[in-house]
Amino acid sequence: MDDHCTNCAGRLPAGSARYLCEACEYQLHTWLREIPRHLPLLADSLQPDTGPAQRGGSGRAHSPLPVRVEVLNLLGPGHAVPLDDPHGDQSAGVPIAPLLYGWALYLATELPSARRDEHGTVRIEPCTGPVARAGSSIAAWCSWLDAYLPYAVTRQWSADMYSQIEDLLRRIRHITNTRPRRRPMQAPCPSCSAFALVTVDDQLHISCEACAARLTSDEYDEHRAQVMPVLAAIALRMITPQKAAA
Ligand SMILES: [Zn+2]
Ligand SMILES: [Zn+2]
Repeated sequence: MDDHCTNCAGRLPAGSARYLCEACEYQLHTWLREIPRHLPLLADSLQPDTGPAQRGGSGRAHSPLPVRVEVLNLLGPGHAVPLDDPHGDQSAGVPIAPLLYGWALYLATELPSARRDEHGTVRIEPCTGPVARAGSSIAAWCSWLDAYLPYAVTRQWSADMYSQIEDLLRRIRHITNTRPRRRPMQAPCPSCSAFALVTVDDQLHISCEACAARLTSDEYDEHRAQVMPVLAAIALRMITPQKAAA
């Protein structure tokens, strides 16, 4: 197996069974927890905002649709599609529920299932389908996929799952007008010295927007502890009036 993440090309530990790196798995994990939080906002966005009634004007030739089509395309029914045809005839993209269920079904068919037959012999067979104990809601399938992520990242198709869920969340955030919180960090980048390090809610690492360097929070804390006292001393010298030589 290649020792690079099939999604972001980040290096994987030697001999790893993964196809997705820890950082990409973390993003999928946060996205699957984020999707259900958008549902009330999506439901509220279903009805078009017709605005105040207007008098006069030329009027419309047709009545407006009673729902926003782009929201219906997310919340409505649909069907999962094969990997090589991710959008199929659903040109606006696969709705949330069938996309999540489709991936759960795909994952389940690769999972071995153990059962005892009538003679008490353990039989290992392919799983016939996923069962979400919390029901069949969008939140339940998000939770199901989240629980099986450690297995999913060891499958060759995991980068396809990543990109489809990323695209789904991009469509959702476009409607709910939200984006992950991004906070600039105090210390400069250890690789390029630019003050461009940021932490973003759905990312495992602190990353540099100038050179794409990535640091864990422990690495950043250690770097900050080394560099900030030096920078503070330089800044202090620059603002302190120098005494004239005697
Ligand atoms: Zn990755
Ligand atoms: Zn940098």
